[in-house]
Amino acid sequence: MADAVPDVDFLLALLNSTPVMDGAPTDDLADPGQARAWLASQGGQATEAELRQVVKARAGLQAVLRGTEPPDVLVPILQGVARVPVLAGGQISWHLKVAPERELALRAVLAWDALAKTSPGRLRPCANDECRLFLIDHSKAGTARWCSMAVCGNRMKARRHYERARTT
Ligand SMILES: [Zn+2]
Repeated sequence: MADAVPDVDFLLALLNSTPVMDGAPTDDLADPGQARAWLASQGGQATEAELRQVVKARAGLQAVLRGTEPPDVLVPILQGVARVPVLAGGQISWHLKVAPERELALRAVLAWDALAKTSPGRLRPCANDECRLFLIDHSKAGTARWCSMAVCGNRMKARRHYERARTT
């Protein structure tokens, strides 16, 4: 596995693969056919073993970001991973050595770590407690709260308006 640029888009897509639809939590990776197609589209092998690893990483990362588990839950995903130099064409490049079915899960955790270092606190759960999506806050002030202004932002504003109207 090449020591590539952290893949933030992949991380966010993975975190957001358990959306609430019509009030019920769903899992985009629950259907094996759909899950395999998605893994392949992310550069994975689309095997069952890989899917298990990716789902484990997703559960761990979601729990860490929601504050329900300490980051230590991610340790198994890093276990046994080594960084090795490869000399090719007169140049050394660094590669991560890990079983192929663990690569995608590892990529997700490395992207989470890179983001936590470069943009601390910017990856977080949507402030709508009925929404299970995550967002990366790209705003200058760091005040973005919703996965989508169009969906959750407006819904929360409408709710606050309704509550204010009811209590006055
Ligand atoms: Zn949301």
